[in-house]
Amino acid sequence: MRCVKCKATASVEVRRHNAAYCGPHFLEWFEHQVQRAIDRERMFTRSDRVLVAVSGGKDSLVLWDVLLRLGYRVTGLHLNLGIGAYSALSQEKCENFARERKAELLVVDIPATYGAGVEELARLTGRVVCSACGLSKRYLFNKVALEHGFDVVATAHNLDDEAAVLLTNLIAGNVEALVRQAPMLDRTHPALVKKVKPLYRIAERETAAYAVLRGIDYVLDECPNSVGARTLLLKEALNLLEREAPGTKQSLYWNFLEKLRPLLLSHHPSAEVQSCLHCGQPTTTEVCAFCRMTERAAARLQVRTLGRPQPVASAI
Ligand code: SF4
Ligand code: ZN
Ligand code: ZN
Repeated sequence: MRCVKCKATASVEVRRHNAAYCGPHFLEWFEHQVQRAIDRERMFTRSDRVLVAVSGGKDSLVLWDVLLRLGYRVTGLHLNLGIGAYSALSQEKCENFARERKAELLVVDIPATYGAGVEELARLTGRVVCSACGLSKRYLFNKVALEHGFDVVATAHNLDDEAAVLLTNLIAGNVEALVRQAPMLDRTHPALVKKVKPLYRIAERETAAYAVLRGIDYVLDECPNSVGARTLLLKEALNLLEREAPGTKQSLYWNFLEKLRPLLLSHHPSAEVQSCLHCGQPTTTEVCAFCRMTERAAARLQVRTLGRPQPVASAI
């Protein structure tokens, strides 16, 4: 297998593009794909301040690395979820990455700030852990971005993530979630920061290859709560299809974005956004879901400090 650019021995194959690349040309291709995504979806410019959500896993550290290399004004945001050794190691990887590149990192320690980690919040409120975790992430990404004056929040969802989530939403007939699934969600309310996914054109195995070629040190273990997750099963099913018919994931997601989502949008007006009566963050209900969750947990614990303390993020 030869590199399509220089005919040297290829080290990464991109079957859906019917191409293969040597290391340097793969890195060039990868960065070009990210740049294309940013430009095509008008995600942000070089004058915008970008907050990139970093978990310590390969995808988010790769995204942070690429955006720094492309010359964007990027700051990392890490949420310590309070999931034992996994969270401690994840934070350490983010801090090491930031230190080595002299990049700015904000950290929110959820247990220290809200009195309980996502697992305990879930237990106290009768939620599934990933639901409490996803809610906390969505809330804190927006809150931190708003409070620190960022123009946009970037997350590292890749093509595999988006295709699997799309299947989940289609199977469940979750129209609300389908309407919200896009590589760029613009600011529709002064308190709702723009959200973007610059890796949506890139497959998971390609971010892994990029991480290896760039020597990025990331958390190898998956979150213990991801074991048995339905999304993983759907990813396996999509990988099977992709092996037999390269390009399946891309066609599924891109056709959805180009043909189906516009139809859904035209029939589904977005819900009215208001300010949460308790914390002021944007919500479609009087009190936002995050306040309801943390307040319910606080009542259970009878811990007075579990409300909404300040500051929510600290820089290292
Ligand atoms: Fe959060 Fe872990 Fe669930 Fe992912 S798998 S949503 S990190 S609890
Ligand atoms: Zn080459
Ligand atoms: Zn609230």
